Formats: sequence, C-alpha cells, structure tokens
Amino acid sequence: MRTIIAGNWKMHKDRAEAQALIDALAEQVGNTERVEVIVAPPFPFLAMAVEHLRDAHIGVAAQNCHEALHGAFTGEVSAAMLKSVGVSACIVGHSERRQYYGETDAAVGGKIAALLHAGMLPIYCCGEMRAEREKGTHFEVVRAQMNEALGPISPADLAKVVVAYEPVWAIGTGLTATPQQAQEMHAFVRKELRMLAGDAAAAIPILYGGSMKPDNARELLACADVNGGLIGGAALDAGLFTELVRIAARAAAHTSIP
Ligand code: PEP
Repeated sequence: MRTIIAGNWKMHKDRAEAQALIDALAEQVGNTERVEVIVAPPFPFLAMAVEHLRDAHIGVAAQNCHEALHGAFTGEVSAAMLKSVGVSACIVGHSERRQYYGETDAAVGGKIAALLHAGMLPIYCCGEMRAEREKGTHFEVVRAQMNEALGPISPADLAKVVVAYEPVWAIGTGLTATPQQAQEMHAFVRKELRMLAGDAAAAIPILYGGSMKPDNARELLACADVNGGLIGGAALDAGLFTELVRIAARAAAHTSIP
C-alpha cells in the first residue's frame, strides 16, 4: 500500500514566502522511498513549485480545477492546463469548496473525471460536518458523498484515485478524530470503495485530514486503513511537515513488515 503525505497550503503565502517554504522542503524532506510527498500551493506558485521540487521528488498538486477541458469559464483552470505546467495531482471536493462555493458531489465527480482524463491524480475529499457526527449520520453522509462523486467512475479509473477522509469538525480546529474514530470511518470508506471498485479498493490510499500534527500523527498513521495524511496548518511550516513525512515513513516501514 502506498503512503502519501500531502500538504494543502490553502490561500496562504506570498511569492517570497512560498519560495522560502519550497526551498526548505526541497532541502529538508529528503528522498523518502516509503512516502509519496505532495504539496498543493496556490495557483500562482505551482510552476515554481514544480521546478524547484522536481529533484526532491516532491509532487505538486493544485487545490481545485474545472471539469471542462477549456471554454468560457472566467477565473477557472482546467486539469489539462495544470498538467501542462507539470502539476501531477489535484485536491477536489475539499469541505471549504463545498461550504463556500457550493460545490456538489456531482460537480466534484466531473472534476475527478477531468483529472483522470488528463492523467492526473485526484485527491477526493469527503467527510461529515459536526452536526452530522452529533446526530450519528456520519456514515450515511460519507456514503452519499462517495456514491455521488465516485459512482460514475469505472473501477479501473477508481484505482487511480486517492480518497481523503476529512471530518469537517476537525479541519483547522485543533480537534482531531481519535484513532478509533478515524479507523472506523476509513474501514467504512474502504468497504464502500469495494462496492464501487471491487478488488482495486484494497490498494486505494485513504488519507486522514483534520488537524494532523506531529504529536497525533503516529497513532493515526498506525491505523490499518489510514494510508497517509492531508495536512493543512502544519503544511505551512517546513519543520512540522518534514516531521510528518518522517513519522509516515516510520509507520510505512512498520506496516510493511510481514
Ligand atoms: C485541510 O484543510 O485539508 C486540513 C486537514 O487542514 P488542517 O490540517 O489545518 O486541519
């Protein structure tokens, strides 16, 4: 199973700050055989990140894309455009885009199809709101998100997708799902993926996202169905992010022992 640590910079950093973070990551992350490292800077810094992170084997992702190949969609960016500047992955369906820009699962499904068409890696975010967890509807919510966005994708293509379970109540709040809550939902996501993708589900990485930091990552990454992390706040600090990559590498080494 692949292990992935992906950093979502959201709308942070100016050019000089982005360059400094990119340089620090290139220097500090090192060649990590066991972990795929990906960073998702804002659009203006993507090409710069691709150029400076290539030798460090750190992949670059966008934080969003449009579902169409091209056209009259002012302010939007297509998957093919991202691919043409060396971007290899894209976060889609992040809860902030669902919440502030009204992105539906159907629209997100279209973005996933566009990314697959461009030969890129979609990182599909799903997860329940706090009220939904309190009501006990979190499994239903995640099932519906997965079925709507991933249902139309063929099993062969689903094998090329990464899922990130991000409980919305844990994003940027300092609240983290307990390892038990994370494992329970990740096992559920794996089961749903099996319905959609058959045997390919066993090899689809499921990342955890929601206030993952060096002090809680060890336990989360030790869970059987947690195959890495999608990191927000801690991805803005090269030291914290590098530490998370190291923790993931140790967890991956541990789980690969037969
Ligand atoms: C995120 O935005 O995907 C995220 C997980 O953020 P944070 O780590 O800050 O909770």
